[in-house]
Amino acid sequence: MTNSCFSFGGLPKNAKIIKIIDEAKNQKRTLLFDAEFENAAPGQFGMVWIRGTDEIPLGCSFKNGVTFQVVGDATKTLFSLKEGDSVGLRGPFGNGFSIPKKGDKILIVAGGIGAAPLAPLAEKANEAGAKVTIILGARSADDLIFEKRFKDAGNVLLTTDDGSLGRKGFVTTVLSEQDLGKFSKIYVCGPEIMMKFVMDILIQKNAVEKSEFSMERYFKCGIGVCGACCIDETGVRVCKDGPVFPGTVLLNSEFGKYHRDASGKRIKY
Ligand SMILES: Cc1cc2nc3c(=O)[nH]c(=O)nc-3n(C[C@H](O)[C@H](O)[C@H](O)COP(=O)(O)OP(=O)(O)OC[C@H]3O[C@@H](n4cnc5c(N)ncnc54)[C@H](O)[C@@H]3O)c2cc1C
Repeated sequence: MTNSCFSFGGLPKNAKIIKIIDEAKNQKRTLLFDAEFENAAPGQFGMVWIRGTDEIPLGCSFKNGVTFQVVGDATKTLFSLKEGDSVGLRGPFGNGFSIPKKGDKILIVAGGIGAAPLAPLAEKANEAGAKVTIILGARSADDLIFEKRFKDAGNVLLTTDDGSLGRKGFVTTVLSEQDLGKFSKIYVCGPEIMMKFVMDILIQKNAVEKSEFSMERYFKCGIGVCGACCIDETGVRVCKDGPVFPGTVLLNSEFGKYHRDASGKRIKY
């Protein structure tokens, strides 16, 4: 491991894929590089340039790796790459989650590929001496990632939509049964609709103030210049001010209602 990435928005640095790990049957894959995201904090992301296709944001799921699911052109091309191929990397960018300290009791709510930035947080929190509970959900057993990583870091409550592993249902089913008063922080990442239902429960249980949500928006520059990823009404930029926001910042915003496509047009959830 000789390379390390730029820690600012400079030119992408070439990174060779040294290992490919299939994390789940349904096209969810980790790429490990010969370059590290320098001092990446849990929740920060890298901009991954897939030459000839696109440059996309992906969470730093490992100090030298990213984990992704296939949804469109860029991720399809990324999935076709082999060990020895290379991509361009910039980052790490964004703010990351707040890090718990010894004795804290924290709850992590991870849905689908949203587990990618949360696994390093669970590990870091466990190392710091915090007590970690994770509600880990996916559509099915074939979509679930990082079960072992989370189990090594804390107490895992598993859910799958189809009941093929763990409890049948959504992460919100399990969340609504928890006494949230015992947690000092609640961290959330997953599909926005899932996060919206999580937020509704936190509102009911008076726990929004201790929550942090990792947001996804369409990125262009990734360094806070272009404004493509701003969130109405406050205008906070997901790439620069986020991607992690306190739940209180997302209340009364576009969160859970709409996002924007590449042209800036609103797309309703
Ligand atoms: C800060 C940040 C961190 C991210 N971290 C990760 C990560 O760790 N792993 C990961 O897999 N993705 C992550 N994403 C999302 C990832 O950037 C997108 O999935 C990717 O840009 C899609 O590019 P594409 O060209 O493959 O698909 P596009 O051609 O852009 O999209 C294809 C279709 O899929 C839809 N789509 C796009 N993104 C998603 C999505 N996430 N889920 C479902 N449908 C979608 C689009 O609406 C469109 O219909 C992150 C996004 C942000 C902003």
